[in-house]
Amino acid sequence: LQQNHTPASHLKLCVCVRKRPIFKKEETNGEIDSVSVSNPQIRVLAPKFKVDGITKYVENYDFTFDNSFNENEETQDVYKYSLRPLLDHIMNQGVITCFAYGQTGSGKTFTMKGLQNQYVTDMYKLSTHQNYSSMNLKFFISFFEIYGGRCYDLLNNKNQLVILEDKNGYVQIQNIVEKQAMSAEEMIQLIEYGHNIRTTHATASNDTSSRSHAICQIMLRNDKDKQVGKLVLVDLAGSERAQDCQSNNRQRRMEGAEINKSLLALKECIRAMDTGAAHVPFRASKLTLVLRDSFQSKSDKSKIVMIACISPGSSSSDHTVNTLRYADRLK
Ligand code: ADP
Ligand code: MG
Repeated sequence: LQQNHTPASHLKLCVCVRKRPIFKKEETNGEIDSVSVSNPQIRVLAPKFKVDGITKYVENYDFTFDNSFNENEETQDVYKYSLRPLLDHIMNQGVITCFAYGQTGSGKTFTMKGLQNQYVTDMYKLSTHQNYSSMNLKFFISFFEIYGGRCYDLLNNKNQLVILEDKNGYVQIQNIVEKQAMSAEEMIQLIEYGHNIRTTHATASNDTSSRSHAICQIMLRNDKDKQVGKLVLVDLAGSERAQDCQSNNRQRRMEGAEINKSLLALKECIRAMDTGAAHVPFRASKLTLVLRDSFQSKSDKSKIVMIACISPGSSSSDHTVNTLRYADRLK
């Protein structure tokens, strides 16, 4: 079922929602699908009370976004309207940043990996096209995560990284590993490697990947090593983790507070960028500090695609409404 979507190309900020399918296991556990998507609208049926074991819905939550993708649409469909329309932009000095926001298990990493692979494949293909081949473009990648306000290099054994702002206002990440990839296949392997480093150290009871932001940057440079464009893909920490700031566990509470702070700062920076504000409060968190380039408000250089991922299950509907509210307030 193909829906009529809006391509991201004419927007500075494109806010999309993607609903993942309900799993068999969830249905077996009595979960019902409580989200209906009718692009660009989305409705969450909020279960309010149970009568004789039957859940009654008394209130619906309605939202409208630039694009809403239903559970039958594939990553390829999301790609077609979000990142693909911005391919030429990256070849022309653009900075494209794509965020995946949402609760743990809603499909952020699944969506990011799929988009990454398609974008990388198309980018290498386009760089050999007659319009661009004379630029002799080279592709580099860096991949790091922010956990508890600290940065770790995912391409270098989680080596801790220091962020510096130089006197010209450039934000630098000291000693971060940058790898050149000669082909799309090589680039995809490096991305896969980074994702695996991120999750292999995590166990079920200590799932750090849900409490960290993963930032993958792909830089395009010309034969004089000058940056041509940049793609930044950000797989954000699970949005429900922001509520850990009320946890009894001190470590969790601090991590939760850090996530809460960074997601609020991100919202403010995206809004400032989209509205062309004179001041972007990017120093408010580590996350927004390292993403400074992504929030250039005074030009059309920066473009942001936000993909809010949601789980369909009724037990998630509070988190789903929170996610949709966050996405809604970006515009
Ligand atoms: P998150 O990164 O938000 O915690 P994941 O991307 O790990 O969530 O997704 C949770 C699970 O759901 C994974 O097993 C993933 O393969 C599956 N999944 C997510 N989105 C989809 C989708 N659109 N179609 C099919 N399976 C999906
Ligand atoms: Mg994930």
